[in-house]
Amino acid sequence: MSARKTPPNDLATLAVHAGTEGRDADTAVVHPLFQSVNFIQEVGTGDGLRYPRYGNAPNAELVQRRVAALEGAEAAVLLSSGMAATACGLLALLRPGDHLLASSWIYGGATALFTKEFASLGIEVTLVDPLETRIWRHKLRKQTRAIFIETPVNPTCRVLDLRPVSYITKECGIALVVDSTFASPVNLRPLEYGADVVIHSATKYLNGHHDVLGGVVCGTSSYIEEVRQKMMLWGQAPDPFGAWLLERGLKTLDVRVRRHNENAMAVAEWASTRKEIRRVHYPGLESHPDHEIAKEIMDGFGGMLAIELAGGGRAAEKFLRKLKLIRHAPSLGGVDSLVSEPRFTSHAHLTADQRAHAGIPDGFLRLSIGIESAKDLIGDIEQALH
Ligand SMILES: *Cc1c(COP(=O)(O)O)cnc(C)c1O
Repeated sequence: MSARKTPPNDLATLAVHAGTEGRDADTAVVHPLFQSVNFIQEVGTGDGLRYPRYGNAPNAELVQRRVAALEGAEAAVLLSSGMAATACGLLALLRPGDHLLASSWIYGGATALFTKEFASLGIEVTLVDPLETRIWRHKLRKQTRAIFIETPVNPTCRVLDLRPVSYITKECGIALVVDSTFASPVNLRPLEYGADVVIHSATKYLNGHHDVLGGVVCGTSSYIEEVRQKMMLWGQAPDPFGAWLLERGLKTLDVRVRRHNENAMAVAEWASTRKEIRRVHYPGLESHPDHEIAKEIMDGFGGMLAIELAGGGRAAEKFLRKLKLIRHAPSLGGVDSLVSEPRFTSHAHLTADQRAHAGIPDGFLRLSIGIESAKDLIGDIEQALH
């Protein structure tokens, strides 16, 4: 595991308790679900008006306090999806005429949002290869207001170093926005490495049970207030029940992610010994190009890994049909192990050659390793390879 300082030991405690208060007799130990869109208002004042779309209903507020504590941020806001978080998080930073510099290795939905929707709002976006270290400075403009990156990257599991990018954003007084969905705050807290804004698809590890759609933006209180305004007006707030489930999911974040880390490491090490598997992409392996960076800035290597089957696309199809435990589904970050094939999901818009060039040849499979027994997961993969 990481050579860096151990994760804040209180992370496990924060995951269970942060944001709750009240120890009086008769207080429910479980924060109740307020499945109500209306709250009685004080007469004679407009202050303290509560309405779920404003982001101030009790279940959402609790999740917001807890995620802010986990990320070490001043504040957080919970939205209806990861895409809502990405859209409102950036619309709070960018105005018509502004420029956004983004890594080209980002979630497909984010690419479409930036290149299609933002363009129609008069916001210019440049996508760059994040491995070209000098490119950020080179592509910077007077109008650049933010740099957006995702790490670890889907589906190649590359890990980007936030530190050199943060030197540039600090120097220029612009925002470094990090989609940290794959890491979760257990494995990486981007604010510790100079990020200004952290975005999560809470649909993935934060909730962790494949049953809630949600997104979170973390940052300073004044910035989060701006994001909340966007969320209110564009109507991107979460439902109380989703927030309640998410709060329950967060309680086990620390134990779940540690188990995801352990299981993925075990599967990656085992997969590296198999001749049917040409290549394993996992930042915990010494063979991974970003292993050293991952060791420096992450507390765990994550539950996501990818394998390339030597037999290419046909072998992948056979393999997927034979799996008994690991299920073929496109999402990630939950307790159930899932596998997906980027050539039919996130990278379906590219040709086979373009995908191979991007490091995703046919036969490439992305695994979201769950919290089952590692032995059973390996057994399932082994029988499917035969
Ligand atoms: C899933 C995902 C998103 C989008 O989140 P939704 O909750 O599906 O809207 C954004 N970024 C990353 C890295 C993701 O994996």
